[in-house]
Amino acid sequence: MRGIPLSSALVVEHLDVLVTMDESRREISDAWIAVEDGAITGLGTGTACLGAERRIDGRGLVAMPGLINTHHHFFQTLTRVLPAAQGLGILEWLAANYAFWARIDEEAVHTTACVAIGELLLSGCTTSSDHLYAYPKASGGAIAMLEAEIAAAAELGIRFHPTRGAIDVSLEAGGSPPPELVEDTDSVLESMEEAVLKFNDPSPGSMVRIGLAPCSLTICSERLMIESGDLARRLGVTRHTHVAEVVEEEDYCAEVYGQRPVERLSELGWLGEDVWLAHVVHADTSDINRLATTGTAVSHCPTSNMRLGSGAAPILEMCDANVTVALGVDGSASNDSGNMLAEARQAMLLSRVSAGGNRLMAPRHALRLATVGGAAALKRDDIGVLATGRRADIAFYSLQGVAAAGTEHDPVAALILAPPAAAAHVMVDGRFAVWNGHLTVDEEPIVRAHRDLVRRILR
Ligand SMILES: [Zn+2]
Repeated sequence: MRGIPLSSALVVEHLDVLVTMDESRREISDAWIAVEDGAITGLGTGTACLGAERRIDGRGLVAMPGLINTHHHFFQTLTRVLPAAQGLGILEWLAANYAFWARIDEEAVHTTACVAIGELLLSGCTTSSDHLYAYPKASGGAIAMLEAEIAAAAELGIRFHPTRGAIDVSLEAGGSPPPELVEDTDSVLESMEEAVLKFNDPSPGSMVRIGLAPCSLTICSERLMIESGDLARRLGVTRHTHVAEVVEEEDYCAEVYGQRPVERLSELGWLGEDVWLAHVVHADTSDINRLATTGTAVSHCPTSNMRLGSGAAPILEMCDANVTVALGVDGSASNDSGNMLAEARQAMLLSRVSAGGNRLMAPRHALRLATVGGAAALKRDDIGVLATGRRADIAFYSLQGVAAAGTEHDPVAALILAPPAAAAHVMVDGRFAVWNGHLTVDEEPIVRAHRDLVRRILR
């Protein structure tokens, strides 16, 4: 820590605007917010009448619920902007990346997680999930690798929803995973249960919740899908997978099962309130209705979908049908950044392009997807909104300087229309993880370790 206090009985006051994201969508001017023991103890306008141990002047800042990232592959920072994969669609892109991902181990998972989490935090993200599905045979195994990324999350101070991903077949034409990454179904199921028993904390305010996450319909067996679903329900944890990301998956499911991808998931028991799905780009009205009636959430990953040429998910139609829509930056091999505020802007822009100018997603709608939507997708009722009793996960953005000049009309919409590159301060569970635009841990050793890792693995 760099001299920044743990915020016991802390008040931030005179904030330009505080965006609650509560049901009445209250935005409070000249606002204060008080925090104690990791929770919000009050908020209002004017001068806070509280005997706080520490008071912070919030002038020039907008406070928001911390952003929530619902899809990522931390280990992919390793192959960010990989020259051989820069101009490829997903199947060829996978083929270009797999050889490097098949070399990761616990150390690589820890190092890449520190980079990915650091980048998320700096953008104002306070909770992230991670879909870790690459467990090379030469590594220490799934439990050790999950432990490594959970340790990184605790070191940097982010709220974390890691998922035990898995690949147990190698079917996907063109993008077939190498044998080093294909696991035995029994061992996957065994370690999924072990991961939940060892790491999952279901208590309110939890900093670590485990999800079960077979990779996709094309590289996971029917048995793994069904039995991991049963296991998640028995253990009371959430489930996650990729679906309907590319048109080739739609073709594959039509050919092999005579079904659409979402229909296939339904048959395998993989739709429900405990499930959030990454991508869902290729969804028709029947798919959207299935998601809505089952309470299944969607993690929209606009940048990745554009980068890989996958298409534009029908997000506005999903919102109209009351499907829970959240946002995900996806892995850094297909983004190639982990900036959640930038992702919210991309969601707004892509939806405007795909609607052909007929419907324009509002900036505040994009911010709701990144906060309230994320909390709902991860089944959290203690984050995503700034209100008394919620956990103190708060992003503070500065509206000072040249880039913010002229945004005084609407500093909240400015976060999306003229987004600041980074958050000024970020609090997670009452502790500052970012202060004055820097992580409160030393960034230099993280960057150096990642540079050494890239040299070791990509040599
Ligand atoms: Zn993904």
